[in-house]
Amino acid sequence: MTKIDLIGMTLEAMQQLMVSVGEPNYRGNQLFTWVYKKRVDNLDQITVFSKDLRQQLAKKVDLELLDITKQQRSADGETTKFLFRLSDGAFVESVFMVDGKRRTVCISTQVGCALGCKFCATGKMGLLRNLSTGEMVGQLLTILKMLEVEATNLVLMGMGEPFLNYDNVKTACEIISHSDGIAIGKRKITVSTAGIVPGIKKFTDEQMGCKLAISLNAADNKTRSRLMPINRKYPLTELINAAKYYSAHSRHLFTFEYLMIAGVNDSIENARKLKKMLQGLRCKINIIPYNAVGEQWQPPREEQINRFITELLELKIIVSVRRSKGADIDAACGQLCHLSNQKKL
Ligand code: SF4
Repeated sequence: MTKIDLIGMTLEAMQQLMVSVGEPNYRGNQLFTWVYKKRVDNLDQITVFSKDLRQQLAKKVDLELLDITKQQRSADGETTKFLFRLSDGAFVESVFMVDGKRRTVCISTQVGCALGCKFCATGKMGLLRNLSTGEMVGQLLTILKMLEVEATNLVLMGMGEPFLNYDNVKTACEIISHSDGIAIGKRKITVSTAGIVPGIKKFTDEQMGCKLAISLNAADNKTRSRLMPINRKYPLTELINAAKYYSAHSRHLFTFEYLMIAGVNDSIENARKLKKMLQGLRCKINIIPYNAVGEQWQPPREEQINRFITELLELKIIVSVRRSKGADIDAACGQLCHLSNQKKL
Protein backbone atom coordinates (compact mmCIF):
# COMPACT_ATOMS: atom_id res chain seq x y z
CA MET A 1 0.00 0.00 0.00
CA THR A 2 1.34 3.44 -0.93
CA LYS A 3 1.79 5.61 2.10
CA ILE A 4 0.46 9.17 2.28
CA ASP A 5 2.84 12.04 3.12
CA LEU A 6 1.76 13.86 6.25
CA ILE A 7 3.54 17.04 5.15
CA GLY A 8 1.11 18.66 2.76
CA MET A 9 -2.02 17.33 4.46
CA THR A 10 -4.61 19.89 5.53
CA LEU A 11 -6.22 19.87 8.97
CA GLU A 12 -9.39 18.36 7.49
CA ALA A 13 -7.41 15.59 5.78
CA MET A 14 -5.65 14.78 9.06
CA GLN A 15 -8.98 14.67 10.88
CA GLN A 16 -10.32 12.24 8.26
CA LEU A 17 -7.18 10.14 8.57
CA MET A 18 -7.63 9.81 12.34
CA VAL A 19 -11.32 8.98 11.97
CA SER A 20 -10.33 6.28 9.44
CA VAL A 21 -8.24 4.58 12.13
CA GLY A 22 -11.11 4.72 14.63
CA GLU A 23 -10.03 7.84 16.51
CA PRO A 24 -12.04 10.99 17.24
CA ASN A 25 -11.75 14.10 15.07
CA TYR A 26 -9.69 16.05 17.58
CA ARG A 27 -6.82 13.59 17.15
CA GLY A 28 -6.44 15.13 13.69
CA ASN A 29 -5.97 18.54 15.30
CA GLN A 30 -3.27 17.08 17.55
CA LEU A 31 -1.53 15.51 14.58
CA PHE A 32 -1.63 18.83 12.68
CA THR A 33 -0.02 20.67 15.59
CA TRP A 34 2.68 18.05 16.14
CA VAL A 35 3.62 17.98 12.46
CA TYR A 36 3.52 21.68 11.63
CA LYS A 37 4.02 23.49 14.93
CA LYS A 38 6.12 21.15 17.07
CA ARG A 39 7.78 19.82 13.90
CA VAL A 40 8.53 16.31 15.06
CA ASP A 41 10.92 14.21 12.98
CA ASN A 42 8.95 10.98 13.27
CA LEU A 43 5.70 9.59 14.56
CA ASP A 44 7.32 8.13 17.68
CA GLN A 45 7.85 11.66 18.98
CA ILE A 46 4.09 12.30 19.09
CA THR A 47 3.79 11.43 22.74
CA VAL A 48 0.10 12.32 23.00
CA PHE A 49 -0.60 9.21 20.90
CA SER A 50 -0.36 5.69 22.30
CA LYS A 51 2.31 3.37 20.95
CA ASP A 52 -0.42 1.31 19.28
CA LEU A 53 -1.83 4.35 17.51
CA ARG A 54 1.61 5.45 16.33
CA GLN A 55 2.25 1.97 14.92
CA GLN A 56 -1.10 1.96 13.21
CA LEU A 57 -0.41 5.36 11.66
CA ALA A 58 3.07 4.33 10.58
CA LYS A 59 1.48 1.73 8.27
CA LYS A 60 -0.48 4.48 6.50
CA VAL A 61 1.67 7.62 6.49
CA ASP A 62 5.19 8.94 6.00
CA LEU A 63 6.68 11.92 7.78
CA GLU A 64 9.77 13.05 5.93
CA LEU A 65 11.36 16.40 5.31
CA LEU A 66 12.97 17.21 1.96
CA ASP A 67 16.47 16.12 1.12
CA ILE A 68 18.91 19.07 1.05
CA THR A 69 21.53 18.52 -1.65
CA LYS A 70 23.31 21.82 -1.39
CA GLN A 71 23.30 24.83 0.90
CA GLN A 72 25.05 28.14 0.21
CA ARG A 73 25.35 31.10 2.57
CA SER A 74 26.17 34.63 1.41
CA ALA A 75 29.29 36.32 2.75
CA ASP A 76 27.21 38.62 5.00
CA GLY A 77 25.38 35.55 6.39
CA GLU A 78 21.98 37.09 5.63
CA THR A 79 20.97 34.87 2.75
CA THR A 80 21.03 31.10 2.56
CA LYS A 81 20.10 29.23 -0.54
CA PHE A 82 18.94 25.60 -0.53
CA LEU A 83 18.87 23.07 -3.32
CA PHE A 84 16.43 20.23 -2.64
CA ARG A 85 16.35 16.85 -4.33
CA LEU A 86 12.78 15.57 -4.59
CA SER A 87 11.65 11.94 -4.47
CA ASP A 88 11.69 11.58 -8.28
CA GLY A 89 15.20 13.07 -8.52
CA ALA A 90 14.10 16.54 -9.66
CA PHE A 91 15.67 19.61 -8.02
CA VAL A 92 14.14 22.82 -6.70
CA GLU A 93 15.51 25.83 -4.86
CA SER A 94 14.44 27.93 -1.91
CA VAL A 95 16.04 30.93 -0.25
CA PHE A 96 16.05 32.12 3.38
CA MET A 97 16.72 35.84 3.91
CA VAL A 98 17.24 37.87 7.06
CA ASP A 99 16.57 41.60 6.98
CA GLY A 100 16.47 43.17 10.46
CA LYS A 101 13.67 41.39 12.29
CA ARG A 102 12.19 40.05 9.08
CA ARG A 103 12.92 36.43 8.21
CA THR A 104 11.65 35.56 4.77
CA VAL A 105 11.56 32.22 3.00
CA CYS A 106 11.15 32.17 -0.77
CA ILE A 107 9.84 28.86 -2.12
CA SER A 108 9.38 27.33 -5.57
CA THR A 109 6.02 26.23 -6.95
CA GLN A 110 7.10 24.21 -10.01
CA VAL A 111 10.13 22.26 -11.21
CA GLY A 112 11.30 24.55 -13.98
CA CYS A 113 8.88 26.93 -15.66
CA ALA A 114 7.11 27.09 -18.99
CA LEU A 115 7.12 30.87 -19.27
CA GLY A 116 10.69 31.39 -20.42
CA CYS A 117 11.31 34.92 -19.12
CA LYS A 118 14.58 35.99 -20.69
CA PHE A 119 16.21 37.25 -17.48
CA CYS A 120 15.56 34.02 -15.55
CA ALA A 121 17.65 30.85 -15.29
CA THR A 122 14.57 28.76 -14.47
CA GLY A 123 12.95 29.94 -17.67
CA LYS A 124 15.72 28.24 -19.67
CA MET A 125 14.78 24.89 -18.17
CA GLY A 126 11.24 24.63 -19.45
CA LEU A 127 8.57 23.08 -17.24
CA LEU A 128 9.33 19.64 -15.81
CA ARG A 129 6.34 19.36 -13.50
CA ASN A 130 4.18 21.03 -10.86
CA LEU A 131 5.14 20.72 -7.22
CA SER A 132 2.71 19.02 -4.87
CA THR A 133 1.33 20.86 -1.87
CA GLY A 134 3.61 18.76 0.34
CA GLU A 135 6.70 19.69 -1.67
CA MET A 136 5.90 23.38 -1.25
CA VAL A 137 5.16 23.15 2.48
CA GLY A 138 8.15 20.79 2.77
CA GLN A 139 10.60 23.43 1.47
CA LEU A 140 9.52 25.80 4.23
CA LEU A 141 9.37 23.22 7.03
CA THR A 142 12.75 21.76 6.12
CA ILE A 143 14.39 25.20 6.21
CA LEU A 144 12.76 26.15 9.51
CA LYS A 145 13.85 22.88 11.12
CA MET A 146 17.31 22.93 9.63
CA LEU A 147 18.05 26.52 10.72
CA GLU A 148 15.97 26.30 13.91
CA VAL A 149 14.19 29.56 13.14
CA GLU A 150 10.70 30.90 12.63
CA ALA A 151 9.86 32.77 9.44
CA THR A 152 7.95 36.05 9.56
CA ASN A 153 7.25 36.15 5.81
CA LEU A 154 6.87 33.78 2.90
CA VAL A 155 7.12 34.60 -0.80
CA LEU A 156 6.11 32.27 -3.62
CA MET A 157 8.58 33.81 -5.99
CA GLY A 158 11.07 31.00 -6.57
CA MET A 159 11.05 28.64 -9.52
CA GLY A 160 7.78 28.39 -11.41
CA GLU A 161 4.60 30.36 -11.97
CA PRO A 162 2.28 29.96 -8.94
CA PHE A 163 -0.92 30.58 -10.91
CA LEU A 164 -0.13 27.69 -13.25
CA ASN A 165 -0.18 25.40 -10.19
CA TYR A 166 -3.06 27.24 -8.61
CA ASP A 167 -4.83 24.58 -6.53
CA ASN A 168 -1.69 23.20 -4.89
CA VAL A 169 -0.47 26.74 -4.18
CA LYS A 170 -3.79 27.64 -2.60
CA THR A 171 -3.78 24.56 -0.34
CA ALA A 172 -0.13 25.14 0.62
CA CYS A 173 -1.00 28.73 1.66
CA GLU A 174 -3.94 27.45 3.72
CA ILE A 175 -1.71 25.00 5.58
CA ILE A 176 1.14 27.46 6.10
CA SER A 177 -1.11 30.23 7.39
CA HIS A 178 -3.11 28.03 9.80
CA SER A 179 -2.77 29.36 13.35
CA ASP A 180 -2.32 25.85 14.84
CA GLY A 181 0.60 25.10 12.54
CA ILE A 182 3.36 27.17 10.95
CA ALA A 183 1.17 30.25 11.41
CA ILE A 184 2.57 32.71 8.89
CA GLY A 185 -0.44 34.99 8.42
CA LYS A 186 -1.86 35.38 4.93
CA ARG A 187 -0.93 39.05 4.85
CA LYS A 188 2.69 37.93 5.32
CA ILE A 189 2.51 35.58 2.34
CA THR A 190 3.09 37.01 -1.14
CA VAL A 191 2.13 35.19 -4.32
CA SER A 192 4.07 36.55 -7.27
CA THR A 193 2.82 36.06 -10.82
CA ALA A 194 4.38 36.82 -14.19
CA GLY A 195 0.95 38.04 -15.28
CA ILE A 196 -1.37 35.06 -15.72
CA VAL A 197 -4.58 37.02 -16.17
CA PRO A 198 -7.10 34.21 -15.38
CA GLY A 199 -5.05 33.39 -12.27
CA ILE A 200 -5.25 37.00 -11.04
CA LYS A 201 -9.02 36.96 -11.54
CA LYS A 202 -9.42 33.63 -9.74
CA PHE A 203 -7.17 34.78 -6.91
CA THR A 204 -9.38 37.89 -6.59
CA ASP A 205 -12.71 36.03 -6.81
CA GLU A 206 -11.68 33.38 -4.30
CA GLN A 207 -10.30 35.99 -1.90
CA MET A 208 -7.27 33.83 -1.22
CA GLY A 209 -6.18 36.52 1.23
CA CYS A 210 -2.46 36.46 0.49
CA LYS A 211 -0.64 39.46 -0.94
CA LEU A 212 -0.34 39.76 -4.71
CA ALA A 213 2.74 40.81 -6.68
CA ILE A 214 2.78 41.12 -10.47
CA SER A 215 6.03 41.03 -12.38
CA LEU A 216 5.56 43.93 -14.82
CA ASN A 217 9.04 44.93 -16.04
CA ALA A 218 7.93 47.13 -18.95
CA ALA A 219 5.26 49.64 -19.87
CA ASP A 220 5.03 48.78 -23.55
CA ASN A 221 4.15 45.48 -25.20
CA LYS A 222 7.23 45.36 -27.41
CA THR A 223 9.69 45.51 -24.50
CA ARG A 224 7.58 43.31 -22.24
CA SER A 225 7.16 40.61 -24.89
CA ARG A 226 10.90 40.68 -25.46
CA LEU A 227 11.55 40.10 -21.77
CA MET A 228 8.53 37.94 -20.98
CA PRO A 229 7.02 35.89 -23.82
CA ILE A 230 3.82 35.39 -21.73
CA ASN A 231 3.01 39.01 -22.65
CA ARG A 232 2.02 37.80 -26.12
CA LYS A 233 -0.74 35.74 -24.55
CA TYR A 234 -1.75 38.28 -21.90
CA PRO A 235 -0.71 41.72 -23.21
CA LEU A 236 -0.50 44.81 -21.05
CA THR A 237 -4.08 46.05 -21.54
CA GLU A 238 -5.44 42.72 -20.29
CA LEU A 239 -2.95 42.59 -17.46
CA ILE A 240 -3.73 46.11 -16.29
CA ASN A 241 -7.46 45.35 -16.47
CA ALA A 242 -6.90 42.26 -14.30
CA ALA A 243 -4.93 44.41 -11.84
CA LYS A 244 -7.79 46.94 -11.79
CA TYR A 245 -10.23 44.08 -11.17
CA TYR A 246 -8.14 43.02 -8.16
CA SER A 247 -8.05 46.59 -6.88
CA ALA A 248 -11.79 46.99 -7.25
CA HIS A 249 -12.48 43.83 -5.23
CA SER A 250 -9.78 43.95 -2.59
CA ARG A 251 -9.00 46.37 0.23
CA HIS A 252 -5.32 45.59 -0.16
CA LEU A 253 -2.74 47.14 -2.44
CA PHE A 254 -0.89 44.87 -4.82
CA THR A 255 2.71 45.36 -5.92
CA PHE A 256 4.12 45.70 -9.41
CA GLU A 257 7.66 44.34 -9.57
CA TYR A 258 9.88 46.12 -12.10
CA LEU A 259 13.21 44.50 -12.90
CA MET A 260 15.25 47.42 -14.20
CA ILE A 261 17.83 46.65 -16.87
CA ALA A 262 20.26 49.21 -18.34
CA GLY A 263 19.29 50.33 -21.82
CA VAL A 264 16.22 48.08 -21.90
CA ASN A 265 13.61 49.62 -19.58
CA ASP A 266 15.40 52.25 -17.47
CA SER A 267 15.01 55.45 -19.53
CA ILE A 268 12.99 58.51 -18.57
CA GLU A 269 10.75 57.73 -21.49
CA ASN A 270 10.11 54.27 -19.98
CA ALA A 271 9.33 55.90 -16.63
CA ARG A 272 6.87 58.30 -18.27
CA LYS A 273 5.07 55.47 -20.06
CA LEU A 274 4.89 53.58 -16.80
CA LYS A 275 3.58 56.63 -14.99
CA LYS A 276 0.84 57.04 -17.59
CA MET A 277 -0.08 53.37 -17.38
CA LEU A 278 -0.31 53.35 -13.58
CA GLN A 279 -2.33 56.56 -13.36
CA GLY A 280 -5.23 56.02 -10.94
CA LEU A 281 -4.20 52.47 -9.98
CA ARG A 282 -4.00 51.63 -6.27
CA CYS A 283 -0.68 49.84 -6.15
CA LYS A 284 2.93 49.92 -5.01
CA ILE A 285 5.89 49.61 -7.30
CA ASN A 286 9.03 47.78 -6.41
CA ILE A 287 12.10 48.48 -8.55
CA ILE A 288 14.64 45.66 -8.63
CA PRO A 289 17.91 46.70 -10.29
CA TYR A 290 19.16 43.85 -12.47
CA ASN A 291 22.40 42.55 -10.96
CA ALA A 292 23.57 39.53 -12.92
CA VAL A 293 26.77 41.07 -14.20
CA GLY A 294 28.38 39.19 -17.07
CA GLU A 295 25.07 38.12 -18.55
CA GLN A 296 23.40 39.50 -21.64
CA TRP A 297 22.28 42.67 -19.84
CA GLN A 298 23.81 45.20 -17.46
CA PRO A 299 22.61 46.71 -14.17
CA PRO A 300 21.17 50.24 -14.40
CA ARG A 301 23.33 53.13 -13.18
CA GLU A 302 22.45 54.62 -9.80
CA GLU A 303 21.56 58.06 -11.23
CA GLN A 304 19.27 56.38 -13.77
CA ILE A 305 17.43 54.55 -10.99
CA ASN A 306 17.03 57.82 -9.09
CA ARG A 307 15.72 59.73 -12.12
CA PHE A 308 13.27 56.91 -12.85
CA ILE A 309 11.98 56.94 -9.27
CA THR A 310 11.68 60.73 -9.17
CA GLU A 311 9.47 60.57 -12.26
CA LEU A 312 7.23 57.89 -10.68
CA LEU A 313 6.91 59.69 -7.36
CA GLU A 314 4.63 62.22 -9.07
CA LEU A 315 2.02 59.44 -8.99
CA LYS A 316 1.96 59.63 -5.19
CA ILE A 317 2.30 55.88 -4.89
CA ILE A 318 4.81 53.95 -2.81
CA VAL A 319 7.95 53.32 -4.85
CA SER A 320 10.62 51.11 -3.30
CA VAL A 321 13.93 49.77 -4.53
CA ARG A 322 14.84 46.20 -3.63
CA ARG A 323 18.51 45.54 -3.66
CA SER A 324 19.11 41.86 -4.38
CA LYS A 325 20.35 40.06 -1.34
CA GLY A 326 22.90 37.31 -1.59
CA ALA A 327 24.21 38.35 -5.00
CA ASP A 328 27.47 36.49 -4.23
CA ILE A 329 25.54 33.19 -4.13
CA ASP A 330 23.25 33.91 -7.07
CA ALA A 331 20.22 34.04 -4.82
CA ALA A 332 17.92 34.61 -7.75
CA CYS A 333 16.19 31.26 -8.03
CA GLY A 334 17.05 28.88 -10.80
CA GLN A 335 20.81 29.10 -11.09
CA LEU A 336 21.88 26.05 -9.08
CA CYS A 337 18.81 24.20 -10.08
CA HIS A 338 19.16 24.81 -13.78
CA LEU A 339 22.51 23.01 -13.72
CA SER A 340 21.29 20.18 -11.46
CA ASN A 341 18.15 19.41 -13.49
CA GLN A 342 20.19 19.55 -16.70
CA LYS A 343 22.59 16.95 -15.33
CA LYS A 344 19.65 14.76 -14.44
CA LEU A 345 18.07 14.95 -17.89
S1 SF4 B 1 10.72 34.68 -13.86
FE1 SF4 B 1 9.22 33.31 -12.90
S2 SF4 B 1 7.64 33.10 -14.49
FE2 SF4 B 1 9.44 33.89 -15.54
S3 SF4 B 1 10.53 32.06 -16.29
FE3 SF4 B 1 11.39 32.58 -14.27
S4 SF4 B 1 10.25 31.32 -12.85
FE4 SF4 B 1 9.05 31.40 -14.74
